Amino acid sequence: MSHKTFVPVNEPLLKGNEEKYLIECIRTGWISSEGPFIKKFEEQFAARVRRKYGVAVSNGSVALDASVAALGIGAGDEVIMPTFTIISCAAAVVRAGAVPVVVDCDPVTWNMDVTQIEARITSRTKAIMVVHIFGLPVDMNPLLMLAHKYGLKVIEDAAEMHGQTYEMRPCGSFGDISTFSFYPNKHITTGEGGMIMTDDPALADRCRSLRNLCFKSEQRFVHDELGWNYRMTNMQAALGVAQLERLDEFVQIKRRMGARYSKLLASTPGIQLPLAQTGFADNIYWVYGLVIDNSVPFDAKEAMKRLEKLGIGTRPFFWPMHEQPVFKKMGLFANQTCPVSERIARRGFYIPSGMALTDGQIEQVVDAMRKVFQ
Ligand SMILES: *Cc1c(COP(=O)(O)O)cnc(C)c1O
Repeated sequence: MSHKTFVPVNEPLLKGNEEKYLIECIRTGWISSEGPFIKKFEEQFAARVRRKYGVAVSNGSVALDASVAALGIGAGDEVIMPTFTIISCAAAVVRAGAVPVVVDCDPVTWNMDVTQIEARITSRTKAIMVVHIFGLPVDMNPLLMLAHKYGLKVIEDAAEMHGQTYEMRPCGSFGDISTFSFYPNKHITTGEGGMIMTDDPALADRCRSLRNLCFKSEQRFVHDELGWNYRMTNMQAALGVAQLERLDEFVQIKRRMGARYSKLLASTPGIQLPLAQTGFADNIYWVYGLVIDNSVPFDAKEAMKRLEKLGIGTRPFFWPMHEQPVFKKMGLFANQTCPVSERIARRGFYIPSGMALTDGQIEQVVDAMRKVFQ
């Protein structure tokens, strides 16, 4: 038997024009947040998502911070979001002095259960923060109808949705403000990076200002309000432009990976595989997630330990916001339960899903999965 090396949970593909464009940054001296690749990346990515404006920032988490601030969400306001998401979503709301209000997720798509939103709307609700999870978009039509009915803003976290659509319309085009991340495990990467998308020129201006310490054009070092340094560098944007050239190909690679895993794992007992499609989208498998059936006598933690021993990298699912110690200490989410999220947080994990994953590695992962679950 040939020697098998460890299969990492993620490895990006940087084999297009990344090197060429990066060298261009170094040769021309444009290495800070000034430089031609920033504008190019903002314009090209906005066009791809069918938005008027893109504001490149240093990562997907601060894209959410700036979005919440740009919408004027603050003390006393409530923002409805899924409990099953990354901390960045709730952190942005809490840091703004507002209150995150969470709903549970769907047991099959793992996306926020849109039917639970209306019951959580109060006179203080200012926005819905919708997060598309793992590769399938949230059912946007009923959510947008609710936002319209109650006059709520929509913040769309599309960090896992590059190249995905909902009923043929690009994810990232649905929010008053939408955000992306370009972390190395996303469909396109800039190392670290993010972007805020909007069609509203005033919101775009506000995000640009917040990104750049709210410097004033008339008197640079006099400030009317507090911003951040959330700028993206020209070098990151150079990677972004090169990666964007291959986005369609990357989505194909991921769909092929997902289909392959699903075919090879179909007969493995005790695990729930990700849904290949819904009525409005085909999965783009940001990650290939699995949930262990309740009948299996061990949880995700144990399965991940066993897979690690067999040379397979994994990551757990998100831990629900309403169970986060940091928020509990703040007195948030007292007595809240979300049974679906609580279960999948404990029984869910994802297997290697990166862009550079080979067919051989997929087989190696599947062999190990069979050993653990059969
Ligand atoms: C990755 C991710 C983020 C955070 O992006 P960073 O660039 O890592 O800060 C935010 N939201 C979701 C849903 C993500 O998957």
